[in-house]
Amino acid sequence: MTDFDTTAIHAGQEPDGPTGAVIPPIHVSSTYLQDGIGGLRQGYEYGRSGNPTRTALERQLAALEGAAHARSFSSGLAAEDALLRATLRPGDDVLLGDDVYGGTYRLLTRVLGPWGVTVRIVDLGDVEAVAAALAERPSKLVWVETPSNPLLRIVDVAALARVAHAAGSLLVVDNTFATPALQQPIALGADVVVHSTTKYLGGHSDVVGGAVVTDDPALDAEVGFLQYAVGAVSGPHDAWLTTRGIKTLAVRMARHGENALAIAEALSADPRVARVFYPGLASHPGHEVAARQMRGFGGIVSVELPTAAAARTFAESTRLFALAESLGGVESLVNYPDAMTHASVRGTVLAVPETVVRLSVGLESAADLLADLRQALAVAVPEVPARA
Ligand SMILES: *Cc1c(COP(=O)(O)O)cnc(C)c1O
Repeated sequence: MTDFDTTAIHAGQEPDGPTGAVIPPIHVSSTYLQDGIGGLRQGYEYGRSGNPTRTALERQLAALEGAAHARSFSSGLAAEDALLRATLRPGDDVLLGDDVYGGTYRLLTRVLGPWGVTVRIVDLGDVEAVAAALAERPSKLVWVETPSNPLLRIVDVAALARVAHAAGSLLVVDNTFATPALQQPIALGADVVVHSTTKYLGGHSDVVGGAVVTDDPALDAEVGFLQYAVGAVSGPHDAWLTTRGIKTLAVRMARHGENALAIAEALSADPRVARVFYPGLASHPGHEVAARQMRGFGGIVSVELPTAAAARTFAESTRLFALAESLGGVESLVNYPDAMTHASVRGTVLAVPETVVRLSVGLESAADLLADLRQALAVAVPEVPARA
């Protein structure tokens, strides 16, 4: 077992045998020569069922999460869809947190709902409430995001795994925000990890992808069957770009965390900001649990402005922070959840307050980022003078 930083660079990335190329080649072929009928050289037959570049990424992803198996998909939601169809049957229920990623909620309610799958929503931070909900009616899956989006709430994965397992449920953790560099849910007791590799794993806002990671060989085989039978696989170029991004994950997450903490601390002291959400702040209600189960607090900071109008103006007034959906790239992004990422859950129990703005803090200089946020605050909240 090597350290995480070493694993991220070397797992699945052995130099190419025939040529010695240090970077394994991108295999674009859609089909493979057979030495006699059924005589496959390394098990590869056709690009949907298997591709060496995808295999390399899958080995890397499994190693990062400290798990035995990983399957790579063309998007995070395609990965979730495969996992959900592998585990759920008509009549089954899924227990979700009250700030689950909107796309996961949409997939479950609008795509799988008509096939007889139900969802229930609870506050996953309240372990008793989860136990009570599962006692009232079993759920096949308990679906966790920690830190959550965009309010950065923290869930105790080990405690929830115990409650879920006692009730016969599988615990799924969407580890997109923390990444395995900061948090390894399978070691904490989760059964499955899902990722949108589009975010920090790819890390450069240039590729869409997803993954399902597990230690359970039977579950992995079911997910693998759907990968083959449905075909939402990552293409070779996407798989390779994701692999390249992952090699710098550890250093990127360290710097994302340093920049995010500097910004969270500075904005906490700014009277123009009503509230700062960042699990690295000692004042954050999930700080202790986060410090226990994470190796850093990540690169997302959300802020609450005095009014909805101020929040909108703030989000539209940054220059370095680009106004855009998504997160996790080297460049800083600002998002107004109510009308952007979370518009589809407006008016539901999952709605995000209209006063909240989410920052994906990138790898630029913290001083430059802070200067940009301060000039945007001056535009958005002109009547409160900045504290010296
Ligand atoms: C983006 C995201 C997803 C969906 O992934 P895509 O790659 O966009 O399909 C799922 N969960 C979380 C937490 C995300 O941020």
